[in-house]
Amino acid sequence: IEFVRAAQLQGDEEPSSVPPPSAQAQQKESIQAVRRSLPVFPFREELLTAIANHQVLIIEGETGSGKTTQIPQYLFEEGYTKKGMKIACTQPRRVAAMSVAARVAREMGVKLGNEVGYSIRFEDCTSERTVLRYMTDGMLLREFLSEPDLASYSVVMVDEAHERTLHTDILFGLIKDVARFRPELKVLVASATLDTARFSTFFDDAPIFRIPGRRFPVDIFYTKAPEADYLEACVVSVLQIHVTQPPGDILVFLTGQEEIEAACEMLQDRCRRLGSKIRELLVLPIYANLPSDMQARIFQPTPPGARKVVVATNIAETSLTIEGIIYVLDPGFCKQKSYNPRTGMESLTVTPCSKASANQRAGRAGRVAAGKCFRLYTAWAYQHELEETTVPEIQRTSLGNVVLLLKSLGIHDLMHFDFLDPPPYETLLLALEQLYALGALNHLGELTTSGRKMAELPVDPMLSKMILASEKYSCSEEILTVAAMLSVNNSIFYRPKDKVVHADNARVNFFLPGGDHLVLLNVYTQWAESGYSSQWCYENFVQFRSMRRARDVREQLEGLLERVEVGLTSCQGDYIRVRKAITSGYFYHTARLTRSGYRTVKQQQTVFIHPNSSLFEQQPRWLLYHELVLTTKEFMRQVLEIESSWLLEVAPHYYKAKELEDPHAKKMPKKVGKTREELG
Ligand code: ADP
Ligand code: MG
Repeated sequence: IEFVRAAQLQGDEEPSSVPPPSAQAQQKESIQAVRRSLPVFPFREELLTAIANHQVLIIEGETGSGKTTQIPQYLFEEGYTKKGMKIACTQPRRVAAMSVAARVAREMGVKLGNEVGYSIRFEDCTSERTVLRYMTDGMLLREFLSEPDLASYSVVMVDEAHERTLHTDILFGLIKDVARFRPELKVLVASATLDTARFSTFFDDAPIFRIPGRRFPVDIFYTKAPEADYLEACVVSVLQIHVTQPPGDILVFLTGQEEIEAACEMLQDRCRRLGSKIRELLVLPIYANLPSDMQARIFQPTPPGARKVVVATNIAETSLTIEGIIYVLDPGFCKQKSYNPRTGMESLTVTPCSKASANQRAGRAGRVAAGKCFRLYTAWAYQHELEETTVPEIQRTSLGNVVLLLKSLGIHDLMHFDFLDPPPYETLLLALEQLYALGALNHLGELTTSGRKMAELPVDPMLSKMILASEKYSCSEEILTVAAMLSVNNSIFYRPKDKVVHADNARVNFFLPGGDHLVLLNVYTQWAESGYSSQWCYENFVQFRSMRRARDVREQLEGLLERVEVGLTSCQGDYIRVRKAITSGYFYHTARLTRSGYRTVKQQQTVFIHPNSSLFEQQPRWLLYHELVLTTKEFMRQVLEIESSWLLEVAPHYYKAKELEDPHAKKMPKKVGKTREELG
């Protein structure tokens, strides 16, 4: 692949002022020395003074300057956690919360989960003693449910604020409010060098504290012509860099787990084939669902003579800093949620990243020495095709979850909530409508008893509704499993390149009539019967790690059942009950087969069954889907066959018999999954 050098990202350091650190030097240096070497360190006193003098402080600093790992420690050392008070530091991403907490625990010489811990959905690694709490922004939001004034916190640091995730944006409004009647609460808003003036304005002109960066220049290269297959282009370019460029590790930005795994496999494959013709290349993935022991590997120093390539999602853009990166490879894409309030359809799509994002990525190459960034697109595309900045998530996602939470916090007038950027009016309205349809709100827009229970469960309203409905259909055992399996979605089956046929056969063996939710249930049940065995997973091409996670999630949800007054019962193989309970939550996501393929029932959108689905070949008349993913087409992922009459049974206020009439019913006899008797 041919690249042309087109520009340079200016640094503030001379290219040669610091040599790249060698692995041994890094290891020898004590952790305290590393702490003192971070850009934030010289500003420790000044920063603490500013925090003492102002209730709200915006902190701006280049990625890697020590905001996340150091500032909470400074506050701890300064006594902000006396009298059992806690410090919260929020992260948009689970991986970041875990990884940063682990790092800080190590720096402080304490066991993770004691003084320093993290709390992410379905995983709480904190204890009574935990005073430094790293958590996802979503978890801090949920803290408001149990402690609306955050009374046990002395400091709240909203970190990575520039990411503008939905939860971070909502936190801004809530925290601004709490700060008004808790003058002793300190609020820190930390951000990479983007957007800070806006945060300041929002928080009544709070001062901005700038930590000067330490950044070396980065040369930017573009491809001469557009690349058709960016995954292949990535693999080729990594090897090209490895063979032609001086030492230094490589960071590659891809969009998600599947892509990353594919790229890693391809790279390892080709390295194996090249054998001793090339130097050693360590290929390390990093993405949200990667288990923590694997995550930790990306931080280990590269052995002398070898080169490391880290294949990452957006997580490495600003949330995590990996030492030793000299080369960045940027295909220019990210996975982004988008939402159409007119149709109520949410989809996750691979889209070009913004210029701001591309420049953050490039910046990762200039942390320890002058670096190079290779963009797998043309300079023209950068100029003309990339947006300046990413649209805040609140403007491109459904709001059901957040509206339910705000309603439970007693915030009724959502139209006048203090948003940094307001969501589209139609999106808010639709969220209210959907919550009404799910029975969470009454016709006055007030929270119902059922809505209160739904808010108790840390899952989407539709999934909560499904869990609540399992009481009525006496199948909570099965529904909990389905809910847990859905939450580790898409990473259950293992499909190695060299064993595709075996893997696909193994998957098909789990198929049950009725659809994918039952397949997930089947996998879990068999795994449980095997004694949760890893060997069983291996033999059946099932990912053990995902299953272990599903088991954790399931246990947590089971622990919450009592709170929402659902008893533990099993359907004893009567899967119709399970399917009806699922329909009770997902009646919004339904599609029917028409002459021209599948159409969503209410909006008449054209959709397709995902080829991986167990129902791909059967094409049932009526179905519901868990989610829509837009790739080449609008695909429904995790689909379940239903009967139209169930829709009237579970959502009579939402469906009218007339719209469920079936003009082709006589020509195409309805076929529904078999009952227990038929299955034997
Ligand atoms: P910021 O939040 O300003 O981007 P951080 O506090 O995350 O900066 O990182 C400061 C430094 O700490 C980084 O340069 C990195 O070298 C180091 N660091 C952070 N996390 C880890 C980790 N898990 N392992 C090793 N070093 C880490
Ligand atoms: Mg940080």
